[in-house]
Amino acid sequence: MKREKFLDEKIPMVEIFNSISGEGITSGFLTTFVRVYGCNLRCSYCDTKYSYDGEYILMTPSDILKEVNKFNCRRIIVTGGEPLEEDKLKRYIPIYLTQNGYEVRIETNGSVKLYNEEEILEFTGSKERKNLFYTLDIKCPSSNMDKFNIFEENFKRLILGDEIKFVVGNVKDLDYSMQVVEKYKEYFKGVTLNFSSVFSKVEPSQIVDYLKAKNKFFMENNLDVRVNIQLHKIIWDKDKRGV
Ligand code: SF4
Repeated sequence: MKREKFLDEKIPMVEIFNSISGEGITSGFLTTFVRVYGCNLRCSYCDTKYSYDGEYILMTPSDILKEVNKFNCRRIIVTGGEPLEEDKLKRYIPIYLTQNGYEVRIETNGSVKLYNEEEILEFTGSKERKNLFYTLDIKCPSSNMDKFNIFEENFKRLILGDEIKFVVGNVKDLDYSMQVVEKYKEYFKGVTLNFSSVFSKVEPSQIVDYLKAKNKFFMENNLDVRVNIQLHKIIWDKDKRGV
């Protein structure tokens, strides 16, 4: 991907709006959301089907930047759909926004590769990832998409400030999540592990009880674990868009 080509192209986008972050370690922070169009997965519980099965508008990177600038908000979450689909122009929107002064977090579904150093170098002039963080999903069995998870290749790219999100729909998913944590724990130092329930499928208190029983393991391995409540679904109607 040549940076110049990216700057000239129109990219399918779903919506750009300002709200609060509803999930993870940024929960509650005022944030601008940049939602790209298209997703390579079809999770059983997807609550944003409109991001791959609805209408989209075409925007150039500078159109996107103009829209984002209107909100005067330092934090951006680029979400979807899937922002990092390979060989798609949308993949470079997050880096482009960091180059324009924003702190950007990418919500990625864990089935596509995170940026390699060469991609970051091409767009920023440095191999170092700055002001750019990942919220990396691990798909559990109840999503029906777990076979697409990329583990080690993505985990080795995680740094302080990144987070992992397990969306769990039942106890089998919790067991699966813990197997992943146990196997790859050496990659998760400084990375927050979020456990989130599929809305109305698992009680958060059930997740708390499950995790409390693993406290010794988390302490011995210096792992930071939190239960994630989807704030936006409490503040607003669970199906309301653009909030
Ligand atoms: S990865 Fe996200 S957007 Fe894609 S189908 Fe799954 S939940 Fe929906």
